[in-house]
Amino acid sequence: MLVNGAWTEIQGSKSFAVINPATGEVIEHVADGGQAEARAAIEVAHDAFPAWRATTAYARSAILYKAYQLMLDRKEELAQLMTTEQGKPIRAARTEVQYGADFLLWFAEEAKRVYGETIPAPRGDQRFIALQQPVGVVAAITPWNYPISMITRKVGPALAAGCTVVLKPAEATPLCAIAIFKILQEAGVPAGVANLVTAADPRPVGDEFVNNPKVRKLTFTGSTAVGKMLAGQAAGNMKRVSCELGGHAPFLVFADADPVHAAKGAQLVKFLNTGQACISPNRIFVHRSIHDAFVDTLASRAGKMLAGNGLTDGVAIGPLVNEAAVAKVAAQVDDARAKGAEVVCGGERLTADGLDKGFFYAPTVLANIDPEMTIYREETFGPVAPIMAFDDDQEALAMANDTHYGLAAYVYTRDISRAMRMFEGLDFGIVGINDINPSAAAAPFGGIKDSGLGREGSRKGIAEYLETKLGGFSV
Ligand code: ADP
Repeated sequence: MLVNGAWTEIQGSKSFAVINPATGEVIEHVADGGQAEARAAIEVAHDAFPAWRATTAYARSAILYKAYQLMLDRKEELAQLMTTEQGKPIRAARTEVQYGADFLLWFAEEAKRVYGETIPAPRGDQRFIALQQPVGVVAAITPWNYPISMITRKVGPALAAGCTVVLKPAEATPLCAIAIFKILQEAGVPAGVANLVTAADPRPVGDEFVNNPKVRKLTFTGSTAVGKMLAGQAAGNMKRVSCELGGHAPFLVFADADPVHAAKGAQLVKFLNTGQACISPNRIFVHRSIHDAFVDTLASRAGKMLAGNGLTDGVAIGPLVNEAAVAKVAAQVDDARAKGAEVVCGGERLTADGLDKGFFYAPTVLANIDPEMTIYREETFGPVAPIMAFDDDQEALAMANDTHYGLAAYVYTRDISRAMRMFEGLDFGIVGINDINPSAAAAPFGGIKDSGLGREGSRKGIAEYLETKLGGFSV
């Protein structure tokens, strides 16, 4: 833990083990913080706020830029740590380190563009000025699936805006968080400005975050259930809240699309991070006229993906995060199979060649999905591609929108009018049109409906950490 610029040594039994999900082995033990540690960190963040907010945007920008450079200098080291702790193949880990660093660069720049407004006043002797000021102490909770970029996407804009931060990373991936906070410290973030509380049990820390009056803003990325609970409690204390929650992305392939090209895209985005992404396609709707060609291509490509330890050359599918994740994926596949889905490839846990020591599930393609199946509604967070055929555009759009989630959606078509109709008609915060990677530090990321509140990245990302203050002057 990092509180007030000092790293806490592990004391006695107050620690927990971090497991490599590919091997089941313990990598390291880290300090186990609770409510008292969270409270102490909030206290120092509160004390550090006046001096930090008083620094110039140029000074904060320079520190973030230095942290960006340190992340790039240590890209390989960070990527190896991420693969060991989280499981994703090393190439994907390198991509994530770059993506994570991009947020620091982007917000180093945005720090200098926090503009206010002058507003014409109704009286001749009156002047209006609206300032943008940092909200204050930010409490941040991050998930394990993108254990570096989800941190920089919050801490970057918060620090750029002049806020101080206390962050609790996911219990599965504290080592990546520690590495990033070391970089922030080395880059010159002053003591108390960025604090880290690692914890095996998130609840006492979360309780303190939502109840402590010194926290002015909660930013959360994780499951919808936990996000709703925390947002509810934070609302009771009138804290600002941003949430990036679960998703159930539809992936629509229209009759005019090239089924092979679309299947390649589906494979890349579906099996990215072993399906453990909130933007992962969870229902693939394919026009009946090209359905079989799409399914054949996707299944033959998915079936060839090598599962294993992400540090091994050629591995394209890493492990799931833990035993519970394997059980959830297996239960959804078994439910679909029992209700008539066709398992085109995969459909089983992988145990051969030492994979039994980790949490591996085969890349799976399911055809003949219907709305009665659990997978049609529940987020899978695993390597399963569920496919349905459709006949009519409007029917496909209605099915795509038939979910309480609203994060990402994907469309494959070569018809510009159809693309625009779908872009406008899909009730999701992010729509990829022939594009399976509609995200970047410069682009607003976030969902509607049960997928969350607020946006991260882009110029909107820093606004989440700013308050508007109006000045009325009689002259
Ligand atoms: P996932 O299913 O992706 O693990 P969670 O919502 O459980 O999603 O976890 C996302 C983050 O939320 C993690 O940092 C986790 O520790 C934290 N978290 C989980 N439950 C709580 C809780 N009750 N209070 C505060 N934080 C929580």
